[in-house]
Amino acid sequence: MGENLALPSANTRLLAVLGHPVGHSLSPTIHNAALRAQSVDAVYVAFDVLPDRLATAIDGLRALNVWGANLTIPHKELAVGLVDELDLTAQRVGAINTIVNREGHLMGHNTDIAGFLGALRSVRKEGAAGARCLVAGAGGAARAVVAALMAGGAEAVFVYNRTPERAETLCRAASTWGKGVCEAVAATSLSDVVRTSDVIVNATSVGLADSVKKSSIPVDSLDGHHVVVDLVYGRRDTALVSQAVLRGAIAIGGLEMLLKQAAASYELWTGLKAPLDVMRDSVA
Ligand code: NAP
Repeated sequence: MGENLALPSANTRLLAVLGHPVGHSLSPTIHNAALRAQSVDAVYVAFDVLPDRLATAIDGLRALNVWGANLTIPHKELAVGLVDELDLTAQRVGAINTIVNREGHLMGHNTDIAGFLGALRSVRKEGAAGARCLVAGAGGAARAVVAALMAGGAEAVFVYNRTPERAETLCRAASTWGKGVCEAVAATSLSDVVRTSDVIVNATSVGLADSVKKSSIPVDSLDGHHVVVDLVYGRRDTALVSQAVLRGAIAIGGLEMLLKQAAASYELWTGLKAPLDVMRDSVA
């Protein structure tokens, strides 16, 4: 069905992910599989964009009439100030992972929130409801995770970050995102917070590529009552996922969230229901 669309023509639309680094991204594989399966005349590519060129790159989306884009590490927060409009969720969270271009008007969205909740529900059917949660990281992805946990009814969300001020800033913003409490935690109390948490999320980039043997979270007190979600994905399990499984916890890597946020972005661009099975098979 999509065979005759294999070669781009003058009418082919462009979609892209902007990140740095971006060579590890599975988004081109996932989206191109979906576009082909649904005979959408578009291609999805990856652009390695340095942070100080992001404004130029985003303006380039307008100039080149690019259909839409994803933002990945480290651009999700900076991009907020570079688009023309934000949907309500993106405004609240202060991070975007998706841009839709409608005739030069760039609309920013955050599909990581729905993607994360979908992934969490695949391993904890009640999602965040009633849970005590620990999130490592305070960047763009962590903001989406904290928003999802707070909105999903978490009792408490604790945020640990290498740069503590960013965790404090995130928790101040998050205090109005739900009924639960959000508190920044220091490295010295991290092990205690791990012990008393139900859901543990790594939203740092630790575990990517060469640091795959490291974990942002102390693993010694993990046990069978924990649900662990590592946002990092790759060909192998991260240290956090493999150590958590070894200790009896339920643990998943970032692939399920990646697929679910990708499906939501695809639907925003194309207006079609995303072929989630095709997307999943493309990275199996
Ligand atoms: P970001 O905005 O650049 O934030 C990076 C975070 O990682 C910050 O909290 C940073 O701490 C922390 N960090 C980086 N290197 C560290 C180190 N060596 N030790 C401790 N902390 C470190 O990036 P992001 O967009 O939030 O993405 C974070 C991760 O989530 C990436 O691995 C990304 O691929 C993954 N992600 C996955 C999905 C998915 O669908 N599965 C979706 C979104 C993101 P500082 O504040 O101290 O710098």
